Amino acid sequence: MENNPQNIPQNIPQPEESKEETLELLKRGEARTMQRDLAKLREAEAEQEKQRVAALGETKKQAPAANPGILMPQENEPIAKEIPKKEEIIQTLIPAQKPASSFKKILIRLSAIIIVLLLGSFFYWLFSAGKLPKTEITRPETENIAETPVESEEIAEELKIVIPEALISAGFSETIEIADITAIPQMVSQIMQKTYENEGYSRILFQNTKENKIIGLKEFISAFPVTVPEKILAGLENDFTLFVYSSKGTNRLGFVAKTNSDISSEVSLWEKTMEADTQNLFAVLGKKDKALASSFKSSSYQGNAFRFLTISKDDFGICYSLFNNYFIFATSFESLEKTIDAVKIKESQTTSLEKETVSTTSPIFSIVDNIITWGFYTPKTPRLIDTIIIHSAYNNIGGDVYSIDKIIQEFQMYKVASHYLISREGKIYRLVLDEAIAYHAGKGSMPDGSRTNVVNNFSVGIELIYTEEEGPNEIQYQALTYLVKNLQQKFNIPQEKILGHKDTSSTGKTDPWNFDREKFIQTLN
Ligand SMILES: [Zn+2]
Repeated sequence: MENNPQNIPQNIPQPEESKEETLELLKRGEARTMQRDLAKLREAEAEQEKQRVAALGETKKQAPAANPGILMPQENEPIAKEIPKKEEIIQTLIPAQKPASSFKKILIRLSAIIIVLLLGSFFYWLFSAGKLPKTEITRPETENIAETPVESEEIAEELKIVIPEALISAGFSETIEIADITAIPQMVSQIMQKTYENEGYSRILFQNTKENKIIGLKEFISAFPVTVPEKILAGLENDFTLFVYSSKGTNRLGFVAKTNSDISSEVSLWEKTMEADTQNLFAVLGKKDKALASSFKSSSYQGNAFRFLTISKDDFGICYSLFNNYFIFATSFESLEKTIDAVKIKESQTTSLEKETVSTTSPIFSIVDNIITWGFYTPKTPRLIDTIIIHSAYNNIGGDVYSIDKIIQEFQMYKVASHYLISREGKIYRLVLDEAIAYHAGKGSMPDGSRTNVVNNFSVGIELIYTEEEGPNEIQYQALTYLVKNLQQKFNIPQEKILGHKDTSSTGKTDPWNFDREKFIQTLN
């Protein structure tokens, strides 16, 4: 869009160019007289040279024979060896041209002048007749045509619909296109009769397709119209969240807007005429008769005061609440209360999101199923799980010590298994379902000496892949934390029953090697 004003001045400078052109012609006129003077001087010089050349005699005979243009360098070469002759020849050659070409030069100059004059008059004619500007204009026009799509794209970019951020935690959002705000009441009427699959909130956005924007509060109000006192309207921000609250097959309309000043006394005053002023809106919402109640009453929800005027017994009325910097308008008790919750949830979500971006960027773990067929059995009756046994292992049959495939091969060789494997990269593999008893703990008992040689029965085994010289790396600790937290929640496993293999083994197992239990327990909490 900013290109246009620049384009227009670009078309204009032609008159200036024509001025320059005439100036150029004037300059050329000057040059012509100067050239004539120079030509006279040169002719005189040439005459003198002729005489000198004649006086020089024999050496000069070579020069006329030489083709001055082409042969000069070749001729010069051998002559150049003779130092005294060289200068002479050069001197003679140059003037020798002059007498031969002086007439031609005059002819060339004359023809050049004629050409310049012709060109000058041609351009003058073009400018004065206005033909050149026209052709110049057509060019920018075609340029403009080429630019038009770019511009319209820019415009489209500028007009990209800005959707105000929702003021409630609405699960669904519905955008209704309208060509004119007069269509709003009918659309609202349709919405009220609609059956929503999901109970709760649906945000309603009216998009004006002509102006390509989302309808604001003021336009929404003027669509019915609803008469709202000036001071109240001025105290409400135009970006608002219109919603339908669906509950038990009944839809209730409402909206939330932020306030930019204290409008509480104005709203109290408005109560007297609110029913009449909102009549057009409530007629669309299904109000048939005069409100049951004669005046507004006070109530509160979780410490937040609100006012209401009951229209009919089926929880239909004019309800509003001013709390924090919000004005909530709802058409039922239930939707008003839920909206207070929804606004609070939205607020807490916004703040927690802000916190999240500041704090950790912890990787998201997931469990990859790689179910094996050996090393476990599934009990007929569901087993009790209350213990987690942490192991460490690596591939010692050759190749990559961290190879998951090789470690699984080893398991297969010994017909053993753990429920989970955590790779050196922190990837979590599930080999055996939690419900199955895997053979990972071997002989041993709980630290208190109980449940001897049956540790597998009530435990889940996790193998961390690293060598004896190492310890788990950071990502493995994090993955383990993720997995253990999951299992703790699922099976209600207390912290003291998160054990290392060495804590239960009666056969001298030493894994998990170099495992920092304190650090792990800290990350777990
Ligand atoms: Zn072990």
